[in-house]
Amino acid sequence: MDVYGLLGNPVGHSLSPPMHEAAYDELGLEARYVTFEPDEDDIDDAIRGADALGIAGLNVTIPFKQDALEIVAPEDLATRIGAVNTIDFSGSGPPTGYNTDAVGALRALRDHDVDLEGSRAVVVGAGGAGRAVSFGLADAGATVAIANRTESKAHALADEVSRATGHGLGGMQRLVADADVLVNATSVGMDSAETPVPADALHDELTVLDAVYTPIETRLLRDAAAAGATTIDGAWMLLYQGVEAFEIWTGRDAPVDVMNSALRSRL
Ligand code: NAP
Repeated sequence: MDVYGLLGNPVGHSLSPPMHEAAYDELGLEARYVTFEPDEDDIDDAIRGADALGIAGLNVTIPFKQDALEIVAPEDLATRIGAVNTIDFSGSGPPTGYNTDAVGALRALRDHDVDLEGSRAVVVGAGGAGRAVSFGLADAGATVAIANRTESKAHALADEVSRATGHGLGGMQRLVADADVLVNATSVGMDSAETPVPADALHDELTVLDAVYTPIETRLLRDAAAAGATTIDGAWMLLYQGVEAFEIWTGRDAPVDVMNSALRSRL
């Protein structure tokens, strides 16, 4: 029996257990996915203890993503993003840390036929999700304009990301007018009817990915659909970060449709 899990605090409402266990059932794997809620001071012991106990893999969420970076051997992308959300314990050396949020966003976009090489992207937000999406898009060949409420954070992030520029939220119309891809990586719209981008900035040549998945149809996505844009909800990004973790851990292609159904039936 392989044991996988999620480290976070709180983790009570996580959708990862049903999503991963649906995949184990589909492929006939003898595995379980459980949640762990260590105290904030115990994250080091928790990860080393998981390794000692033979746990196969862990996802990591708030507030431990940055701490985990210091405890595992992180991949280059996770190091640049500054956060680890997936740990693989299968090697003989120290556990490897990945950031699958970046790949999750890229796979969500590619699944909707977006060609990122040479594209112009606007990322709203410069927190954890904004960092992951910005590095991911730049690695995929996009030019990235990062816009954030605290403008200095957008400039600081843009200095780290290739072909990126930093902006405040003020000039959104101008930024989005020329863009092919828009990603909301702020928490604006989460359990509210707010949007980080004015409706009149949206247009029909745009693909809009909202990282927010509660509600599944945010005001931004409604406005984008009304403007004729292609819309991708946050459950796609959540799905593909889990798919990517599953594939890292098991070395097998994930049953994406089964995981998607398990996730969406609970949203
Ligand atoms: P975070 O690190 O706390 O960053 C929050 C971001 O939202 C910052 O850029 C912040 O701007 C901005 N923000 C917050 N309130 C705002 C407001 N009222 N107006 C304008 N900007 C505001 O959070 P995170 O981890 O990046 O998560 C952001 C969102 O992405 C959350 O909704 C999270 O659930 C979602 N997410 C989804 C996935 C997925 O798989 N779908 C993965 C990761 C995250 P300042 O810097 O100015 O404070």
